[in-house]
Amino acid sequence: MTTPAPPQAPPQGQQQPPPQQQGDGLDDTALAVAIAAFLAGLTVTASYAASIAVLLAALRARFRLSRAAVKALGAVLSDVTQAPPPVTGVIGTASEQVSRMNAARRAQYVTAASKRVLAAEREARAKGESAEAARDEALARERKFYAMHLQAMWNRSAAAGRIDMEAATHGPLLGWYSRHDTSVTPECAGADRHNFYVDNPPYIGLPGIGPHFGCRCEPGPPWPGGKLLAGSGPRYARAA
Ligand SMILES: [Zn+2]
Repeated sequence: MTTPAPPQAPPQGQQQPPPQQQGDGLDDTALAVAIAAFLAGLTVTASYAASIAVLLAALRARFRLSRAAVKALGAVLSDVTQAPPPVTGVIGTASEQVSRMNAARRAQYVTAASKRVLAAEREARAKGESAEAARDEALARERKFYAMHLQAMWNRSAAAGRIDMEAATHGPLLGWYSRHDTSVTPECAGADRHNFYVDNPPYIGLPGIGPHFGCRCEPGPPWPGGKLLAGSGPRYARAA
């Protein structure tokens, strides 16, 4: 295989093309999918550094990543793989959905963080400042963001576990229970005393997971005669 041809030069004159924000290859959504598959396949006994090197070589060929993008991705992946998400099992449909959601969000985080690191490096270079220092600072910031992501993943998994435990007792139709206090959101308050199907969640998502960050709603036994939340229905019934 040959390397791809460089972009065409301007047809006339000897002017350099403007310093455009050229693609680093990080915007391809399939890249996040490839990273998700990689993260899912990592085992704790694997050598992360060696695994990452193999992955980067493959991604570089497939996604035409710039050298700078490969470097940024490698640095972010190194941090992310050293702090894996808490291991939470899949015990039902809610935890299955959340496990997929967490995997997707983690991979999207990797590409988004890599772009931020790259942008910080470029900004420093443009100002004549040290790109290395900017990169280290950006990576330190990303470690804090990632810790917040880990917490969010954990919260979602814990809420999904509660939902699956309720479904194990009551079946797939569950009730939505909101907190009645001053900090409840209108959406959560409106969902109270309604029912939903765990395996075909309502549009607002599952209690404690979907409506908003920090949602304190809980699943419980279905409300007798309770209305179904919009979007939820018995599985396979929606297309009817
Ligand atoms: Zn809520």
